[in-house]
Amino acid sequence: MGRIKGLKCRECGRLYPLEPIHVCEYCFGPLEVDYDYDEIKRIISREKIERGPLSLWRYKDLLPVERGEDSSPGIGFTPLLRAYNLGRELGLKELYLKNDSVNPTFSFKDRVVAVAIAKAKELGFDTLACASTGNLASAVAAAGAKAGMKTYVFLPDDVEAGKIVNAAIYGPNLVMVHGTYDELNRLCSEIADRYHWAFVNVNVRPYYAEGSKSLAFEVVEQLGWRAPDHVVVPVGSGSLLTKIGKGLNEMVKVGLIEEANTRISGAQPTGCAPVANAFAAKTLNIRPVKKPDTVAKSLAIGNPADGYYALKTVGGTGGGFEAVTDDEVVEGIKLLAKTEGIFTEAAGGVTVGVLKKLVEEGKITPDECVVAYITGNGLKTQEAVTERVKTPFFVEPHLTSFEDSVIFNRTATPISS
Ligand SMILES: *Cc1c(COP(=O)(O)O)cnc(C)c1O
Ligand SMILES: [Zn+2]
Repeated sequence: MGRIKGLKCRECGRLYPLEPIHVCEYCFGPLEVDYDYDEIKRIISREKIERGPLSLWRYKDLLPVERGEDSSPGIGFTPLLRAYNLGRELGLKELYLKNDSVNPTFSFKDRVVAVAIAKAKELGFDTLACASTGNLASAVAAAGAKAGMKTYVFLPDDVEAGKIVNAAIYGPNLVMVHGTYDELNRLCSEIADRYHWAFVNVNVRPYYAEGSKSLAFEVVEQLGWRAPDHVVVPVGSGSLLTKIGKGLNEMVKVGLIEEANTRISGAQPTGCAPVANAFAAKTLNIRPVKKPDTVAKSLAIGNPADGYYALKTVGGTGGGFEAVTDDEVVEGIKLLAKTEGIFTEAAGGVTVGVLKKLVEEGKITPDECVVAYITGNGLKTQEAVTERVKTPFFVEPHLTSFEDSVIFNRTATPISS
């Protein structure tokens, strides 16, 4: 057998073949890709990875597909930036930002879709679909268009305008659902049962989820093959955080690094913080949020599929969860822009807000090597900040008008129409 053993139930450990299935028939536990790490250890090395493509496919030995780089090049291997200004502002000596807002459709979702579509093609699907809070829709629509597949994307009808255009432009069948993400997700599960479509985050979810591990792999490589002391990760369904934990462990298992003592902390908005609330209440029982109400719509998942595993992952590392208000989210977006010149979306504002809070609470200390994951681009969620940015000067095209208004700060002459 090769490096991939099959799918394995996270609860009872039963093994399944590599098929488009995601739940255990016996205990209803979620399925996860299971690898032969001894075999991978034999074939993988730092040198081989460094010679690989400048994309997430340099880690193909740890991903559940045979081919991928030809169908989705240019995804991943995004910059890890040393954030001197933000670090100084927060009192951190070694802060980095993993800027995943520069992926082809401007969020980390391109990674998960790259793996999902590669697997969907291997499995013979001709239709790609997803249940999205916003960013997944554009990633699926773009990948589906490039692959020449039929594509259906489902979005809640209160999503930001920028997220709709960023999906619609690729020409998918775009379905706006009048309801919460959780209601939409339930609808998609029913559709996935009836139609033979590859729903990236439903029936091919085990493969999709593996794409997020690349965010752990790249950070370790970019730090010079060293695991950070602390990472801060935004949490919607909890899959990204869980897989960053899995990715770090795998790097140790296959001998790429000796140890990973990384504390993992999760970030949520207070208007939809089911996982952070459970953590605060010291329970693994997540109480779903019925009506999420937050500016961070990409994290507005009231009943997170991997919330339980995100709690277990964080607990095992000594990290924590925090939540921030919409005001703190906007402040986070502005702080990142003003200190580092990066315009992130609301989810990134949640991450920066929580990073700040964890430092203030002493849960992150000044000497730690810290990485904050910036997962999406601000151009898609402009309504979050439009009312909260500095207003421009309005001037006539004359030097005196310019100086009056801008240099001497006198009241500008109103522009007559
Ligand atoms: C989807 C998304 C997340 C959350 O990922 P999960 O795997 O659902 O926890 C974070 N940030 C952005 C920008 C996203 O689009
Ligand atoms: Zn099971």
